[in-house]
Amino acid sequence: MQVFKFGGASVKDADSVKNIATVLKKTGFTNKLIVISAMGKTTNALENVIHAYFNDSTKVTDTIETCLDYHLDIISILFPKGHAIFETVHTLFKQLGNFLELNKSPNYDFVYDQVICYGELTSTHIVSAFLSENNIKNQWIDARELIKTDANYRDAHVDWETTKKNIQDTIQKEGLFVTQGFVASEGNNFTTTLGREGSDYTGAIFAYCLNAENLTIWKDVPGVLNGDPRVFKNTKLLKRISYNEAIEMAFYGASVIHPKTLQPLQRKEIPLYVKSFITPENPGTYIGKGIQLDPMVACFIVKKNQILISLSSIDFSFIMEENISDIFNLLHIYKMKVTMMQNSAISFSVCIENKFNTLEPLLKKLRATYKVRWNEGVTLLTARHASPNEMNLLLHGRKVLLKQENRTVTQYVLKEE
Ligand code: ASP
Ligand code: MG
Repeated sequence: MQVFKFGGASVKDADSVKNIATVLKKTGFTNKLIVISAMGKTTNALENVIHAYFNDSTKVTDTIETCLDYHLDIISILFPKGHAIFETVHTLFKQLGNFLELNKSPNYDFVYDQVICYGELTSTHIVSAFLSENNIKNQWIDARELIKTDANYRDAHVDWETTKKNIQDTIQKEGLFVTQGFVASEGNNFTTTLGREGSDYTGAIFAYCLNAENLTIWKDVPGVLNGDPRVFKNTKLLKRISYNEAIEMAFYGASVIHPKTLQPLQRKEIPLYVKSFITPENPGTYIGKGIQLDPMVACFIVKKNQILISLSSIDFSFIMEENISDIFNLLHIYKMKVTMMQNSAISFSVCIENKFNTLEPLLKKLRATYKVRWNEGVTLLTARHASPNEMNLLLHGRKVLLKQENRTVTQYVLKEE
């Protein structure tokens, strides 16, 4: 069994959907499970629906319509008039509207997941129907029936035992299966999601549970590059990298792979390929166990919109293990992701990501015990295998707020002008 993951960019319009069929024709379509994200920027568009629902309910209908029209435009190019897919798509958006009309829960994260899943539900119905139209027999699977999680909406944790059983019972070899990335469900069958950009992780979950031969993530770039081409000039394709290298790069913000993806793969040593859906015959990047980075070049990862918090004791007392453990407990409670930290006798600095909009209550708690300073909108720059010369060129004229270094990695928190 092989697992393919196609992200939003690979289903963003009618031509892209046609291209999926082309990729499958070139690579074979038996013994394969394909995981698909919402089309283009649909997830953001659905976030607008959720925003409207909570903040300005007069806009709910319009925001839903915008999203529906985008899909209708695509399917009217792909399918003949009167094809059953039109009814399917209308029904899905009707269900979404009905949910919001009937919903009584004030829980933002819960509502978010019940709404946001329609992006993936719609895209997979469209791709599955399009493949069938083109005589590529396939089975549409509701990933929510297989991937079970806790009820931690928007960032749910997988129940591996149940998930593995469900997947192995349902997905039999031989066929072609089409399913959604990102979505899952909790014990009461309400929809949960695995975190933004979580479809890669879904690919890894299926690959792990199916003992797949490999997982391929299809992208609009040639593979994993040594820097984001939107930020750096003259980027190079990394042909071969180790799980370790990939996991470090993903964790610090290389958006090409979702950070959670590598762990299940490396546990079973399932190779990961990152390839271009535009040139599927090219080898792309191969990620596996203990591989020497090839080519051996410096890799740069930029993560914007971080927050640097610096704490110092009010009364000049030391910041000790006990304080640090209290601080981390708060970071955990407010779901802050820590990307760098440093301490001295009477101060502690931590760079965090405010994914869940919880900065205010966190600061309030911290102020009760510490003198607190913070900078919002800072950038975390992580450089791997970079020479001092390369670093100097990169940092030229930029204001460094914090620096940390070991033999392989140098990290900087930079102030944006
Ligand atoms: N559609 C979801 C998102 O945009 C999941 C994904 O694309 O991986 O975050
Ligand atoms: Mg995406």
